[in-house]
Amino acid sequence: MLEKTIFEISSPGRTGVRYPDSDVPQAPGLPASLLRTELPLPELSELDVVRHFTNISKNNYFIDGGFYPLGSCTMKYNPKINEKAARLPGFALTHPLQPIETVQGNLAMIYELQNWLAEIGGFAGVSLQPAAGAQGELAGVMIIRAYHLDRGEPNRVKMLIPDSAHGTNPASSKMSGFEIVHLPTDEEGNVDMEALDAVCDENLAGLMLTNPNTLGLFEKHIVEVIRKVHESGGLVYGDGANMNALLGVARPGDLGIDVMHYNLHKTFSTPHGGGGPGSGPVLVNEKLLDFLPGPIVDIIEDGDEDIPPLYGFKMPEKTIGRLKAFYGNFGMMVRAYTYISMHGDEGLRKIAQHAVLNANYILARVKDVYHVPYDRLCMHEFVAEGHWNDAPEASALDIAKRLIDYNFHPPTNYFPLIVHEALMIEPTETENKQTLDEFVDALLKIAEEARTNPELLKEAPHNTTVRRMDEVKAAKDLVLCNC
Ligand SMILES: *Cc1c(COP(=O)(O)O)cnc(C)c1O
Repeated sequence: MLEKTIFEISSPGRTGVRYPDSDVPQAPGLPASLLRTELPLPELSELDVVRHFTNISKNNYFIDGGFYPLGSCTMKYNPKINEKAARLPGFALTHPLQPIETVQGNLAMIYELQNWLAEIGGFAGVSLQPAAGAQGELAGVMIIRAYHLDRGEPNRVKMLIPDSAHGTNPASSKMSGFEIVHLPTDEEGNVDMEALDAVCDENLAGLMLTNPNTLGLFEKHIVEVIRKVHESGGLVYGDGANMNALLGVARPGDLGIDVMHYNLHKTFSTPHGGGGPGSGPVLVNEKLLDFLPGPIVDIIEDGDEDIPPLYGFKMPEKTIGRLKAFYGNFGMMVRAYTYISMHGDEGLRKIAQHAVLNANYILARVKDVYHVPYDRLCMHEFVAEGHWNDAPEASALDIAKRLIDYNFHPPTNYFPLIVHEALMIEPTETENKQTLDEFVDALLKIAEEARTNPELLKEAPHNTTVRRMDEVKAAKDLVLCNC
């Protein structure tokens, strides 16, 4: 049963708060021209409101409630101390238009975070402006375009995108006016080197590389791939959304990547999902520093032994401009800063090691039952096929829906497109062995059910507020109330 809406439980005259009669003279009211005659607000008691929202929240699935192996999304647990830090009045109650002298602590925090992010990735500079991974990509490819134009090479319009890249990569390239050239994947899951050779020429703008790629595999020939692109005068964009696999182990800048973005809301544990605020900082090497979007926090007056430096904002000389109001999503920066300080360098490395270990543990336990087309040591995630020749009725979607009955969030499905009936599983480092085992047990049980009782899968989920949805219709024809 769907919950009633807040309007349906409204009752005329009911309120949460009753004010005593005023014992001071009334201020003049607003002019009638500014008032609406009808404002259909719901009328409810405090308990009505608390119950309503608590009950509808229970219809949702969330990381604090259970395991969320949604591949590509890095749904790790977000430590509560991040929230505590972000709510400190000095951070939470400042305004972006305040004079810089009054927010030096905030700017010092941003400055240090910029330095940490650059160091972790092996880059020379960073802008915290972009508000999402995809916006970081857009910034990155705009930087590549600006670089070629600055060098008098407007002919460089070809952007290479391997078919194992994230879907936002071609979208970002297209939006910034590039011509997209798709690169196939070889049978081991790497970029096909022959295909790469065939398209490297004087019109090459660059290559967008998701590494580890969407198959959860480290690009074996990465140094070679980057060398070829550079030799043709192109630049390499690194999609860093999968940095959870590499933290403290490999630095994309050292591998030769020219420009990259992070997802603070994946790797650095700021909350995501539901369209909440994100943060996709863009990082560049030395030769692209001048093109970064801004403003960027910098030291504008050096300090000495007695006086701390003065932090302020700078706009890089040949900047691609602003991407967002003010300075980016500040609250996300506080959370990421807190997370990095809590872990330190050794802790960050452990994050990547455990993320990779957890994914390989699940892979090892399921791969005799679920076909894994690119069967290599995986990084932080892997992709299995959600179908069997001897159980032809069951699909990846059925398996995903049946997992909900076992109280797990489904993995990403039907992505990447290069795997048939794909199930993309990313456990993250924050889960313990018991949880991983319970999840694997459910997957194995479902594989058995697919043979013995496929109807169970076809009709799943059985215990949720709404049952199997028409997913296309649900997205195109959204109904938010019972009316
Ligand atoms: C999530 C993701 C993105 C896009 O990030 P958003 O913040 O959702 O825009 C890009 N690339 C990869 C590999 C991702 O996993």
